[in-house]
Amino acid sequence: MTAEIVSAAADRSTQRPWTLSSARALYELPFNELLYRSHCIHRANFDPNEIQLSKLLNIKTGGCPEDCGYCSQSVHAQGIAASKLMKLDEVMRQAVNAKEGGATRYCLGAAWRSPKGRDEAAIVAMIKGVKSLGLETCMTLGMISQEQAAVFAEAGLDYYNHNLDTSERFYPNVVTTRKFSDRLATLSHVREAGMKVCSGGILGMGETIDDRIDMLVTLANLAEPPESVPINLLIPMPGTKMADVAPVDPIEFVRVIALARVMMPTSFVRLTAGRTAMSDEMQALCFFAGANSMFIGDMLLTASNPGNDRDHSLLTRLRMTASGKGDLV
Ligand code: SAM
Ligand code: SF4
Repeated sequence: MTAEIVSAAADRSTQRPWTLSSARALYELPFNELLYRSHCIHRANFDPNEIQLSKLLNIKTGGCPEDCGYCSQSVHAQGIAASKLMKLDEVMRQAVNAKEGGATRYCLGAAWRSPKGRDEAAIVAMIKGVKSLGLETCMTLGMISQEQAAVFAEAGLDYYNHNLDTSERFYPNVVTTRKFSDRLATLSHVREAGMKVCSGGILGMGETIDDRIDMLVTLANLAEPPESVPINLLIPMPGTKMADVAPVDPIEFVRVIALARVMMPTSFVRLTAGRTAMSDEMQALCFFAGANSMFIGDMLLTASNPGNDRDHSLLTRLRMTASGKGDLV
């Protein structure tokens, strides 16, 4: 049975293009069957006991003109005061710490709708600086033009994160200051510039199960699926539109991780925001289902993260190693 599952997934032509109904049929399998399939496919493409570790740094906080309903950095939320762009030497100091903590990729995020021309020189300097440490570089700065993507790629940027966040249907319930198609346009600019794509979304914003699946269908049907697919569990931030949305059923969350693995067999599936609200058992199930990347450290952009002690304890008990390191962080 394993060989059949793996060969079917390996030969993606048998599934692509995915449809909501073909993906939904997979989603509705008995839980053990779905996880058996996703684990077999995961094992066929990755070492199931390895996890890729990234670190995320907010290089510019708050004051964002977009109205993303989940985000405390939006001016539409009673959220966080705006800061200036972080200085290069502080970015470098924190990048050295991240590398010593076991990270192989360093992700710099900014609360922007899009970076402005006046920011580009500083962004390029950060890309070159972080790369000089031997870390993979990632940026998440909002929407970027073809020209901006080419400048960042030229500077050596490896990944660009730009999450679709949800289905095209539900998108207007999340953001009104931009369209779903604007996000897809940035993803194609990133791809055209030759960078790797990091794109995923958030569960728990009031979307339906079909919305969650349709987001994965859109990602899996891209000409080239993202190399990295972050799946966030909504962190209900006080002062935001989504502060009081009902929490996601952990079993349904694990099903989405398994579906992402089956639909994008060679992508890194990242357990991203919301891990502080996940039990160790829920995270272990996500790793078994096919999640093989996570952010380390105490903070994400503005929300807390489990921190190295809890992560070290979990990975030790699971006998999992950080990829590229061989030993635990
Ligand atoms: N401003 C840039 C943008 O929106 O593309 C980058 C900022 S940050 C990387 C944006 C991503 O973090 C969002 O697309 C969302 O997926 C995730 N995120 C932000 N706030 C969150 C929250 N409260 N809960 C879960 N995920 C969140
Ligand atoms: Fe701005 Fe990004 Fe937050 Fe949306 S998610 S409000 S674009 S910082």
